[in-house]
Amino acid sequence: MKSGVAQTEYVASPLDCVGDHPAINFINTLRMSGSELTDTWQSDEDVAAWIVREGFRDTLPSTKWPAGVLLRKARNLREIARKAVEARKAKKNIPLGELNGFLEPSVSHCVLSTKSRTDLRFERVYRQKTVEQYLAPVAESVAELLSHGDFDLVRRCEGGQCVLWFYDRTKAHRRRWCSPQFCGNRAKVAAFRARART
Ligand SMILES: [Zn+2]
Repeated sequence: MKSGVAQTEYVASPLDCVGDHPAINFINTLRMSGSELTDTWQSDEDVAAWIVREGFRDTLPSTKWPAGVLLRKARNLREIARKAVEARKAKKNIPLGELNGFLEPSVSHCVLSTKSRTDLRFERVYRQKTVEQYLAPVAESVAELLSHGDFDLVRRCEGGQCVLWFYDRTKAHRRRWCSPQFCGNRAKVAAFRARART
């Protein structure tokens, strides 16, 4: 399919989906790599490919926007989402105007399609003329999290330097780490060393 944004090679990270909610995975695209805060998006292509991978859209954008606009606006929406999640978690006022600025341009309708006589699909189709419209499903996911999410279960990883968030869907609701292999393991090693010193 001809597209305005080309697909790039992406090396998947186990941290891509630890948020366990699409809006949290969105925030988590900015993460620590060693002691450096690292953006997994460096280009329009990175953003568009992430949107498709995360299932927000089936296709890359078919419209050509000026270079860098998709990256800039996606990063802008991500910061708005991060601030809103932090404010919601801290029971502070959420600046809704900025998020609504991404929700208002959304134009969508539902269609019913069929693969066979017994296999019907009912799905929402979004217009994607502008960058804001292309990002609309992401903004809606953030709004859905803020309005319907259980914020006792939305938590930040307890890893000292870690900036990742997650939605705790475990049965006991005692999840503490972005990933047991990363921060969970680091904490275990630190506790072991502390014990060994005493
Ligand atoms: Zn972590």
